[in-house]
Amino acid sequence: MTGLRDGLVVYAGRLRADPWSRDLGPAWLRIRNGRFEEIARGHTRPTDWPDCPTVDLGAAVVLPGLVDSHVHLTESGDGTGEDVSAARSTSERVDLAIRNARTALRAGITTVADCGGSPEAVFEVRARAASLPDCARTLVAAAPITTVRGHTWRFGGEARDDEAMRDLVRRFAAAGADFIKIMASGGGTPGAPAWEPSFSEESLRGVVETAASLGRPLKVHCLSADSMRTAVAAGARLIEHGKFRTAMEDGSGFDPAVVDLIVGAGAVVCPTLSVGHHVLAAPPEVSGDAGTLWGRRQPHDLDDFRRMVESGVRMVSGTDAGWRFTPFDALPGELRLMAGSGMTNRETLASATTGAADALGVGDRIGRIAAGYQADFIAVDADPVDDLSALDRPQAVARDGHVIR
Ligand SMILES: [Zn+2]
Repeated sequence: MTGLRDGLVVYAGRLRADPWSRDLGPAWLRIRNGRFEEIARGHTRPTDWPDCPTVDLGAAVVLPGLVDSHVHLTESGDGTGEDVSAARSTSERVDLAIRNARTALRAGITTVADCGGSPEAVFEVRARAASLPDCARTLVAAAPITTVRGHTWRFGGEARDDEAMRDLVRRFAAAGADFIKIMASGGGTPGAPAWEPSFSEESLRGVVETAASLGRPLKVHCLSADSMRTAVAAGARLIEHGKFRTAMEDGSGFDPAVVDLIVGAGAVVCPTLSVGHHVLAAPPEVSGDAGTLWGRRQPHDLDDFRRMVESGVRMVSGTDAGWRFTPFDALPGELRLMAGSGMTNRETLASATTGAADALGVGDRIGRIAAGYQADFIAVDADPVDDLSALDRPQAVARDGHVIR
């Protein structure tokens, strides 16, 4: 591991500064205090740069570090149930989360957005991960706001009424949450069905406005058409999952009018396609009923995703790592699922870099390789715009200028 406060120079055989740029060819990156200070194109190191350690990445293609917009760091991603997980102590959860943040960074994921855990654990995780150069940077939402005994209530985000909802937004923001998460429908938690909207439009609007007034992006978990319609009408612009579940738990409640609403509002969807993929990849004796259920769901989810893409919905990528069987290095696979269902490689790469950073409100400091940005990058053996599988083979990863090879 290399990482020096006073300066580091990195040579890249080929630089892709952001997904939309062309391949910039060979380049030198000067890094200081964890940020890119200067970028010089060409084979030759600028002669006026100060003498400092150099990392030569040879012929590798260097691109921005990836952002996983939806993880649950304090969960294990090995099929452990919510009740078992909730019984872990805070320190056990923090240790687990740090291991998960290491797995993410090794896979080229330099930033993760934790979309819900108990506040006492996730704030500590963020601080510890920041001080450990081999962990992904962690942005946190604290606990998802939910109804009483609603989806993921065990994280501590239950709200009895509208005032309690707004109060939680203010409390989490004051505690330092990077963004706010709310469950606008049920989900996997027993007794909170995915197809039932959790809040009225008016209740959600109060949360949308409070989060906006505090400068916090708001991620809204929506597993049904009704919940998406309500969320977007209330002013929400970041939709998590974006599924069309119905009480039948089979088939899809796909609704083109809801998709038009999302496109018209310029809302962004984080489709978390990995969850079903990894449930189905688990041995049937391990996945059990979930395997049967997702065997019916996943084809509809992929089909609905494709229709949303074709209708022009903007996507950011996130895996829901930690939930069910989803591991913390799943993002490259998520991008392949997205590309296999209608997005171009370049669009998927944007969904995991510039697009994800912009949605999280940090697009002015992460997601691109540019002077002033945090020095996060990955080096791979081919340009992912041509070959997404290159992301499975990171040769080097850096977060805040600390290079791990
Ligand atoms: Zn989630």
